[in-house]
Amino acid sequence: MKSIFEKIIDRELSAEIIYEDGLVISIKDINPISPQHFLVIPKKKYKNIQAVSNNDIHIFSHLFSVIQKIVIQENLNEKGYRVVINNGEYGGQTIDHLHIHIIGGRALRWPPG
Ligand code: 5GP
Repeated sequence: MKSIFEKIIDRELSAEIIYEDGLVISIKDINPISPQHFLVIPKKKYKNIQAVSNNDIHIFSHLFSVIQKIVIQENLNEKGYRVVINNGEYGGQTIDHLHIHIIGGRALRWPPG
């Protein structure tokens, strides 16, 4: 079964896309927890961090190079932002398709709940 993100990638569900290339899509989170809240999603579905095989390990460097581009594009570079992966049940992951949150636009507290 397709994940919500695969449906967005395949244009079966709409989303506000802020970046896309052959490997990755980035969208605005539908339920933002801060003024700027984006998701960076590999187009290939990995359930979580540990599901990325050694052959595909390059996807992590690509995801982070995309994050570098997005934070410039969205003017988050100067004030800062937080990058989060909720991984697995205790990590609070709700969609079983690996994704990275970029959270910005306000000062964030630490530690998270
Ligand atoms: P997780 O809790 O798995 O780390 O994050 C899933 C995120 O996906 C949540 O922040 C949630 O608001 C977002 N989300 C869930 N469904 C949709 C959707 O249909 N469209 C968009 N743009 N974001 C979604």
